[in-house]
Amino acid sequence: MKICIDPGHGMSNRQPGIFDPGATHMENGFRFHESAMALRYALAVKDALRARQIDVFMTRDDEQDHAPVVRRAAMAQAAGCDAFISIHLNDAESDAAHGTEVLYRDDEALARRMQQVLVQATGLRDRGIKQRNDLAVLKFDGPAVLLELGFIANDNDRAALLSPQIRSAVADGIAALVAQQVRQMEMA
Ligand SMILES: [Zn+2]
Repeated sequence: MKICIDPGHGMSNRQPGIFDPGATHMENGFRFHESAMALRYALAVKDALRARQIDVFMTRDDEQDHAPVVRRAAMAQAAGCDAFISIHLNDAESDAAHGTEVLYRDDEALARRMQQVLVQATGLRDRGIKQRNDLAVLKFDGPAVLLELGFIANDNDRAALLSPQIRSAVADGIAALVAQQVRQMEMA
């Protein structure tokens, strides 16, 4: 069993050779990048999964790795992954928009469980799950979810998501859920 973890955005994500930071937000002279925050969560999830003896494939490990968004599902497929988890932060016109949500293509049950994990671990508002058939990363042939952890421009969401305690609670929660799903698949 191998799980693909996809830290949203990064080098060559949208255009070859050009860095795509995803959503950004400026606060007190510091610019927060979705790509960097998603990567920190992805690395924490990777560690939590490996601690549970679950193999992990990362679509990117750092900010230099070239991983175009249209190729990420295919990369995961080629690496022999059984499930695909993409990690993002949300963005909206209004800085007041807040909360956590999970996007999915086919696996509504997995999305629902993942959303429960995120709401519990982050304490952020439950925005529910949303089916999306149009997203390139969700074209993975197998269970695929895209986590929108919270809104980068919302002060409460951003502060929560920058907390190391919340980051490890999210990583542990995701890893525990994946381990449970793996056990169910192996018994079936
Ligand atoms: Zn994103």
